[in-house]
Amino acid sequence: GTWSSEKLNQSRKENPFMMTWVPSSSRHKVPNMTHGEGVYLYDDTGKQYLDWTSQAVCANLGHDIPESVVEAAAYQMRQLPFTYGGIGITEVRTRLNQLMGEILPGDLRAAVYPSSGAEANEAGIMMAKRFTGRQKVISWYRSYHGATAHAGAATGDLRRWYGSDSVPGFIKAFNPFPLFFRHGGSQATEQEQVETALLMLEEQILNEGPDNIASIVMESIVGAGGCLVMPDGYMQGIRALCDKYGILMHVDEVMVGFGRTGTLFGFQNYEGVMPDIVSCAKGISSAAIPLSMTACNSKIMEFFEDKPLGWGSTYQAHPVAMAVAYENIKYLLQNNVVGRAQNMSPLFEACMQKVAEDHPSIKQYRCIGLFGCFDVHDFDGQSPKLQHEVAHEAFAKYKEAYLNEGLVGLHRYPHIHCAPPLNIKEEELIDGFQRLDRALTVLDEALGY
Ligand code: PLP
Repeated sequence: GTWSSEKLNQSRKENPFMMTWVPSSSRHKVPNMTHGEGVYLYDDTGKQYLDWTSQAVCANLGHDIPESVVEAAAYQMRQLPFTYGGIGITEVRTRLNQLMGEILPGDLRAAVYPSSGAEANEAGIMMAKRFTGRQKVISWYRSYHGATAHAGAATGDLRRWYGSDSVPGFIKAFNPFPLFFRHGGSQATEQEQVETALLMLEEQILNEGPDNIASIVMESIVGAGGCLVMPDGYMQGIRALCDKYGILMHVDEVMVGFGRTGTLFGFQNYEGVMPDIVSCAKGISSAAIPLSMTACNSKIMEFFEDKPLGWGSTYQAHPVAMAVAYENIKYLLQNNVVGRAQNMSPLFEACMQKVAEDHPSIKQYRCIGLFGCFDVHDFDGQSPKLQHEVAHEAFAKYKEAYLNEGLVGLHRYPHIHCAPPLNIKEEELIDGFQRLDRALTVLDEALGY
């Protein structure tokens, strides 16, 4: 039977588990969730929460999995729950691959299906190193790519400080994000900033030795780092530099792929940009099961026809996970989930704008599709704070109010992300912004406005 709240809490105290990016003690309140319904989650006290970031920007269909997805998982579990990818190929893999071929633009083809976003990036980095015979990788400071060795080393944000930046050969560059520039940058036009960033990147490539650089890894729209949409010309400029020096363009679509920005893939927001390698996860299964995917162009695919990739994991191409992804993607397509998210985005942006105007604690906002981010006002763009420190007393008070108002979501101070399920209804979206509005009043007060 179901455990009572007392039993759950007592057992957690006696049998502690670790949290990952936050401290572990049961003194830090995290609700015991019992069930979900649409965009809402319910805890063991019956309290309702609106899921304001689709968990870690992955539960894109909220918390009711379509029946077709459940049935496909059950069918596959009964039929053949598992074959190891190198020992047997399942029908579902062939079917999913065909579907991927239809939705991936250009000559991109799905190559492997690991379990997490980090692994999808590991696979992509390995593809680039083996294909080019080069060892270095360039990525952005303003990025997150996962917590395994190479994905962690490619990561620019402070989470790599815990140890994954000890892998050699990973070089960081700054993307041209004017809002974060303090000195002089604000006087330069966006176009000038793009040109400067590209010139600096080329200078870095030349200084590292173009023949040493396998790939440039980048999020199409920087997610955890604050919903950063690259200014016009920058991604096209990177594509041109990659072509000039034989470097592969690896786009990480883990957070925004499968509809978050109102297009199927985030890079489709940049005209004429076609990556060589694309990594996906999260939305591929709408988080119903762990699955990721790494796609590459036909030249890379051909290169590995007679040699192994040299990277793998036991659950790569797990049949049950692929069955879930297949039905999930079919559901997204048949119900025009991405188009509906796009249609909802003007209302989303209007709400973002109103909240930013109404709250002195908010400095600015950015958004695209159903993905948005507010920056808290005292953020100077230069001082990342360790997540395991209680970053800011006022922010802690705001987070408590957020929970009390019936919102759950990721927080990465000084950013406040908004990424509700893609199938959220208009009235639910407005309700979510109203809850956020009330929580931000607490932040305004706590910051002394
Ligand atoms: N890449 C991006 C852009 C992400 O946002 C994330 C996770 O948030 C990852 C990679 C890592 O994915 P995972 O946590 O599934 O390993």
